[in-house]
Amino acid sequence: MRNRVHILNVPVDNVSLADAQNQIAEWLEAEQHCKIVVTPNTEIIMKAQKDPELLQIIQSADLVVPDGIGLIYASRILHKALQERVTGVDLMHQVLKYCHQHGKSIYIFGGKPGVAEKASENISKSFPNIRIAGTTHGYFDVSEEEGILDQINENSPDVLFVALGAPKQEKWIYKYRKRLQVKVAMGVGGSIDIWAGTAKRAPKIYQDLGLEWFYRLLKEPWRYKRMMALPHFMVKVLFSRKK
Ligand code: UDP
Repeated sequence: MRNRVHILNVPVDNVSLADAQNQIAEWLEAEQHCKIVVTPNTEIIMKAQKDPELLQIIQSADLVVPDGIGLIYASRILHKALQERVTGVDLMHQVLKYCHQHGKSIYIFGGKPGVAEKASENISKSFPNIRIAGTTHGYFDVSEEEGILDQINENSPDVLFVALGAPKQEKWIYKYRKRLQVKVAMGVGGSIDIWAGTAKRAPKIYQDLGLEWFYRLLKEPWRYKRMMALPHFMVKVLFSRKK
């Protein structure tokens, strides 16, 4: 039985980073077919309010982790406190560590041309036992999707990381979930830019204080509109509690 907290109709698994990693490890060791992991933040939960397809995709995902301090605050407002924030970057790191320890293979799909290759090179340096099953950049035409799918399936990786930004990556995985020959598929967004070195994660102090969003705002001020989702989200959660 999954222990989940519903935030604006989005079910979020009440897991720690270690729980999430163990669940994925279990799937990697079993005869599984494309388990889907999503890592929504407040922005995605807000998008899901207006996008029924996205909402349904998250509702049907196999593991939904709370990527952002906003979800933790919301869960407290709802008196159903989530244990901890589990970011996509951290979860990807734990999955890579597991893949290294157990000789698993990964495929990275997404990012600007060259980014997935660079990310995989750096991943190989940190985790040399991982088999890189392949990489494909994320700027493609719909007509090329069958080819991308074939390329992934020819290499049948254990884990498929998709970095097309949310919600494009979640929709892509969902669209092909029945045909993807992978054990686990996870949308990882900008995490591959961090692995490639084309983006930097907030310093640890910001992470520990739950202020990664603020660091990002300082570095990429043009994102402020997207970040306005946070106060809207909080107000909506407060009202949803009253209902
Ligand atoms: N991206 C892509 N194809 C697209 C749109 C985005 O490969 O059509 C990549 C982009 O280059 C970046 C990643 O998706 O590497 C995540 O983008 P963003 O930072 O906007 O997403 P977030 O991490 O905020 O979900």
